[in-house]
Amino acid sequence: MILSTLFALLISSSFAHNGLVEEGFLVRDSNKIFLKHIQRHKDLVVDHMDKKSYEVYGPHGLGTWLESMGADITDLAVIDGLDEKAAGDYPTPEEISDQLLKLSQKFPNIMTLSSIGQTREGRNLWVMKISDNPTVDEVEPEVKYIANMHGNEIVGRELMLKLIEDIGNRYNAGDKDIIELVDNTEVFIMPSMNPDGALKRQRGNGAWKDLNRNFPDFSTQDNRDVPDGREPETKAVMAWQNSRNFSLSANFHGGTKVVNYPWDTTRDPAPLTDLIVELSGEYASKVDGFFNSTEFPGGIVNGNAWYEVDGGMQDWSYYYHNDLQVTIELSHTKWPPYSDIPQYYSENAWSLVRFLKRIHQGLGVKLPDHSPSGKMTLYRLINGQKQKIGDYKISGGEFYKVLNQGVYEVIVTLDSGETKTTRVDVNFDLLRPNGNFLSLWP
Ligand SMILES: [Zn+2]
Repeated sequence: MILSTLFALLISSSFAHNGLVEEGFLVRDSNKIFLKHIQRHKDLVVDHMDKKSYEVYGPHGLGTWLESMGADITDLAVIDGLDEKAAGDYPTPEEISDQLLKLSQKFPNIMTLSSIGQTREGRNLWVMKISDNPTVDEVEPEVKYIANMHGNEIVGRELMLKLIEDIGNRYNAGDKDIIELVDNTEVFIMPSMNPDGALKRQRGNGAWKDLNRNFPDFSTQDNRDVPDGREPETKAVMAWQNSRNFSLSANFHGGTKVVNYPWDTTRDPAPLTDLIVELSGEYASKVDGFFNSTEFPGGIVNGNAWYEVDGGMQDWSYYYHNDLQVTIELSHTKWPPYSDIPQYYSENAWSLVRFLKRIHQGLGVKLPDHSPSGKMTLYRLINGQKQKIGDYKISGGEFYKVLNQGVYEVIVTLDSGETKTTRVDVNFDLLRPNGNFLSLWP
């Protein structure tokens, strides 16, 4: 009783949805007896739920509190902690920086490396841009991958490095698929959003904060898309997102094998759920452990149907920024032996490239320099009927949207008052110049 009260005081002092994750436990609770008590504490983080158990993260005192309730728990540091030799085989964040710099020097024709900010401990947050003319900001659709926002979920970071190298090699070898991707797209890859956490093999960042509970969330009180009070890594990603025009992305984690799709924070269906399910299913369809999953049919799951996440990056990205994001859990083991990485890459290689290419199933508009802001209204034409898809604000001169295949009526209205209307056939196999950007104002 006293412990419980102390703990409640302890966690109420930090603000909601900004989870402090100093301790983590696997809770065996097949009847979900303890889950109600845990979820009452909005600051605790529940993750990776299955029929028998789930993970809980929180501040110091969490383990004592769970034990005081009689929960059957195991410290995740024990479960995830492989022998130190396996841990030691992985590159340090500084070695990762070095590897990225070398890749950018090996493929200067299609890659540039830049830092979008610093972590709490002052490490750079590196992003590799991959495109033809990589030093020029071209009018092309923008797609991104972010990995390793949970420091102890390491497979994504390594797969991103392998993917960058693979794209570079295949481009220079004349691979048609890759050339089509690189020449018509701006691809951005951030292998590690949490290098401070990766160094210590911990979920949280340098301040033990869970970065995937640290974003604005439209269904909570923390619903203003502003950086105030968030972690430096979160702020950096938010500023980066504001500076670009991303419209498709994925965010890589570990702990199970599944593609988790929006929303996480509410039961309501996200816009274009049929398209999201299709993209998620396609990724899963070629990866062992996904398509043949016994836990998740087809290797995909709706986030909220699995367990609610508030303050996650995926929902923030799609809700506030028209950037359709899914969360891909790559491995049952969060920190597998380093020697297993090539196997994970070969299993995911096709899907990783294919998902990037799927951005070409959509359409974009470039507004004229004299009026770079306006709005787009989109209708889908089905059997002669117009079905409204949505109204979208355009700023910064460019807008792109990933869509279901079909015929669309596009109405673009500039702030200056000019309007243009056109019809477009959105078809994955029909790639137009500039990755499907329409030239309404040539
Ligand atoms: Zn994770």
